[in-house]
Amino acid sequence: MTESNFYSHCQQKFNHASAFLNLPDGHTYSYADLHHQSGRIAHHLTELGVHKGDRVIVQVEKSPQNLFWYFACLRAGFIYIPLNTDYLEHEVEYFIGNAAPSFALCDPARRAIFDKHANCNVGTLDNNGNYLHDNASTGHFGHADYEIQNSEDTDFKDEACDAADIAVILYTSGTTGNPKGAMISHGNLVANAATLSSAWGWQTDDVLLHALPIFHIHGLFVATHLVVFNGSQMNFMTKFDPQLVVDWLPKSSIYMGVPTNYVRLLAHDGLNGDACNNMRLFTSGSAPLLTQTFEDFEQRTGHTIVERYGMTETGMNTSNPLLGKRKPGTVGPALAGVETKICDDLVQQVAVGQAGTLYVKGANVFKGYWQMPDKTAEEFTDDGFFKTGDIASLDEDGYISIIGRDKDMIISGGLNVYPKEIESILDKISGVTESAVIGVPHADFGEAVVAVIVCDDIKAKNGPLSEKQIIAEMKTTIAGFKVPKQIHFVDALPRNTMGKVQKNILRETYRS
Ligand code: AMP
Repeated sequence: MTESNFYSHCQQKFNHASAFLNLPDGHTYSYADLHHQSGRIAHHLTELGVHKGDRVIVQVEKSPQNLFWYFACLRAGFIYIPLNTDYLEHEVEYFIGNAAPSFALCDPARRAIFDKHANCNVGTLDNNGNYLHDNASTGHFGHADYEIQNSEDTDFKDEACDAADIAVILYTSGTTGNPKGAMISHGNLVANAATLSSAWGWQTDDVLLHALPIFHIHGLFVATHLVVFNGSQMNFMTKFDPQLVVDWLPKSSIYMGVPTNYVRLLAHDGLNGDACNNMRLFTSGSAPLLTQTFEDFEQRTGHTIVERYGMTETGMNTSNPLLGKRKPGTVGPALAGVETKICDDLVQQVAVGQAGTLYVKGANVFKGYWQMPDKTAEEFTDDGFFKTGDIASLDEDGYISIIGRDKDMIISGGLNVYPKEIESILDKISGVTESAVIGVPHADFGEAVVAVIVCDDIKAKNGPLSEKQIIAEMKTTIAGFKVPKQIHFVDALPRNTMGKVQKNILRETYRS
């Protein structure tokens, strides 16, 4: 067996004496801290009877200690299950029921919920790193002055893991039906970290500015993994705050954000070329980056954002290049080792420029959905490609554009309408800040195209925009069946924590 434990791979690269994580308050954790704290936690959980392959479910606020718990699970071969901190009781109940964890770690405020639903040991971790577990033994994993068990327990022997062993289950947000637990293996983690490291030219002396949540693939795998995989360091913000980001850019070399983060940074006066002097790379993902944001950012800072594309089930699949042309509105070519194909409904590849469903295959692609073999089988082709559910097209240079989700596709009067196409046109209208296009039930057409728009009247060339005016303008640009039947003006689009527009909420709001 080739050793595939993700932590063991990382450990070959990192130097115990080097800094791992710097907090805005000046506190720094070294790789020795990461190693010892995660070792202590792994010991503790083992003593509580957690075994390789058991699930550890975690719903806590972002903190360095949260990361130590994560790496403890990887080291011991436990399956780590992070939950979005926004999930409410009925959602948590579902995850606990589905995952059947052997240990649960939650925020102190959620203790009663976990006690009620989890049939296992429950511990709490607050955002100052204070840990408390069932047996009422308290400890502080954060600082060396207090240790949960005894300090000799820091030297934990990592569990040998096969590439196929599951490291993490990440529940997909799922706008329809129950969320599905994507089983991500140690092999997936190693493959994706290695591919991204070389695609983005990661160096040991790179410093990542980390301001993403760590319950999601973006902040946990793409961001944290690349740091630890390369033994480099990160400036760790427990939440995204434009002022803090601007303050820490001069001490960082890489920043990763979701598009909304970039929009909010652009709204901050302190963002300029000087603040970015030390930066070598900005990346964006998890939701589409508007061409306007890409261009505004370049104008303000002199940096072009590298947009990449991936999903929970697959890790990262494509990226605009480090060297070479970064094309706004595209997510770049497939990454090394990732096969992609864009197909029609009969799973036949479509021509360049044509829209179709994107399929991917590679060592980055997950094993399947936890306890859902039928659902897993439905999403894979016989030759091992995973159906992403994203509608995409390929250009003549091999760059992929994501047009939307297949379930967002609108069928109006029997004709397919891709929301992204309409949104791109709307976004170009002077005064439109951003837009979301949805389908709503319609007696004649089956579905009608409806646009929800955020406007900035000050920027509108010809005064405040009206529904009539926008519809008239659209009629001169695109086929009639694609023109929105209705336009709604809003102050802001509903978005989830990762910056994705919540079209299910819009469909519900405007269905009548
Ligand atoms: P998640 O599993 O939460 O990471 O969501 C994955 C989905 O986010 C993908 O299937 C895409 O629909 C969307 N997504 C991620 N990155 C991008 C991107 N750069 N452009 C457009 N959509 C993206």
